[in-house]
Amino acid sequence: MAVESARLGAFDSEDPPSMDGLRACVHCGICLPQCPTFRVLGEEMDSPRGRVYLMRAAAEGRTELTPTLARHLDLCLGCRACETACPSGVPFGQLLEATRGQLARKGVRAPETDHRALSFALSLFPHPARLAPLLGALRFYQRSGLQGVVRSLGVLGPFERLRSMEALLPVVPARMAPLPEVTPARGRRRGRIGILTGCVQRFLYPDVNAATIRLLAAAGWEVIAPRGQGCCGALHLHAGRLEEFRGLARQLIKAFDPGLDLIVVNAAGCGSALKEYGHWLPDVASEAFAHKVRDVSEVLADSDLPLRDLPVTVAYHDACHLAHGQRIRTQPRELLRRIPGLTLVELKDADLCCGSAGVYNLVEPEIAGDLGRRKVARIRETGASIVAAGNPGCLMQIAQHCRAQGVEVEVAHPVSLLARALDESQIPAMRSSRS
Ligand code: SF4
Ligand code: SF4
Repeated sequence: MAVESARLGAFDSEDPPSMDGLRACVHCGICLPQCPTFRVLGEEMDSPRGRVYLMRAAAEGRTELTPTLARHLDLCLGCRACETACPSGVPFGQLLEATRGQLARKGVRAPETDHRALSFALSLFPHPARLAPLLGALRFYQRSGLQGVVRSLGVLGPFERLRSMEALLPVVPARMAPLPEVTPARGRRRGRIGILTGCVQRFLYPDVNAATIRLLAAAGWEVIAPRGQGCCGALHLHAGRLEEFRGLARQLIKAFDPGLDLIVVNAAGCGSALKEYGHWLPDVASEAFAHKVRDVSEVLADSDLPLRDLPVTVAYHDACHLAHGQRIRTQPRELLRRIPGLTLVELKDADLCCGSAGVYNLVEPEIAGDLGRRKVARIRETGASIVAAGNPGCLMQIAQHCRAQGVEVEVAHPVSLLARALDESQIPAMRSSRS
C-alpha cells in the first residue's frame, strides 16, 4: 500500500515500515533476553534492538537494503516475544513484515538463507490441492514400512533439508470424511460461528478441527465450515510476500458469510494473521472480518461445557502467535484447569519459541533445532504426560524433538483434551439450529 512520505531512505513508498514504530525504540535492551535468536546466537544484530536499528538505518538512508541486513531479518523467527517485552510499544511484527516485503519485492537476498526451502514450503503448504496428494503418498510411505527402511539405512543422511522435513512429519492420519458444512447448535443457541479449517491443520490434525466443531456445537454455536475456503495467507505475510498474502486474504474473506457472528481459529499463526487483516487490507469488509476473529480458547472460555474426569498431568506451551501475537495466555490454561482430574503443571520458558515459527524449522533447521531441544529439556523437567499447544506447527516441532530425545509425552491441542473430557450425556438434546 503506497503512503505519502518525504523520507523513506532505502525503502520505497509501497508498504514501508512505520517510521513512528521504528522511532519508538529507545534502545533499552529489555527485549534482548526474551529474544530466542539472541539467546542462541548472542549477537546484537540478531536481537530485536539490533534489527530495529538496521531497519531504522535503512529508513533514514544510512544504509542500503543489503544481503547482510536481509540475513539478520531472515534469522528472526517473527515470534514477537520482543513486542510483549517492549515497554515502548515497538510494533516489531509489522515492522518486520513490511521490511521483508520490501526486501522480497526488490530481490535483496541473503546467500546464506535457503530460499529454495522457503519457496518450496510456500508453494506447498498453503495449497490444499497440492498438499492432499503429497500427504497421500506420505501416508503410504509411513504405513508400508518404507519409512522404517529409509531411516534404518540412513538413506536421507546426505540430504539435510529433506532429512529435517522427514523427521518433522507426524503420523499422517487416515483420510477423514469432509467436515460437515453446517453443524447445528446443541442446547441454548449462542449464534452462528464460522471455522477456519486451515491448511496443515486440515490434513495433519483433522481431529483438532472435528474436536473444535464438537465443542462449539456443545457450547451452543451453529458451526459453519465453508467448503470453498483456502489458505489465510499467514505464511506469506510472515515471509513478506504481501501481494500474495492480500490475494489469499481477499479470497478467504469472500468464502465466509458476512452475517456470521464470529470466525473461530484453532491455529495460532493463522488467527494472528486474520486479526491483522484490517491493518494490511484497510477496507470495511476486511476490518469487519478481522473484528470477528477469535481464537477457539477465547470462545470456549466464555462457555459452560460439561466435562468429566481426565486424570492426566499437562504442561502448557504458549504458541508465540497466541501469547505474543494475540496476547492470549489465560484462556487456554483456564480451560485446561476446568477439566476435573487434570493437573496443569508449570512449564518454564513456556512462551519461548519452540523453533517452529511457520516454516522457520525447514529453512533454518540449526537454530530451530537448538530451540526445539531447549523446549524438550524444559518439558522433561515437568514430568507431564501431555504437552498442550494451540498451534499445529508447535505440535509438530515439539513432537519431533520429544521423539528425537526419547521423551515419551503426548503432544496435543488443548481442544483435543477438552473434547476427550466432554460429557455428551450432560448436553441438552440436539435441536434445530433454526429454533
Ligand atoms: S520476533 Fe522473536 S526472534 Fe525476532 S527479534 Fe523479536 S523476539 Fe527476536
Ligand atoms: S524493548 Fe523495545 S524499546 Fe527497548 S530495545 Fe527492545 S525494541 Fe527497543
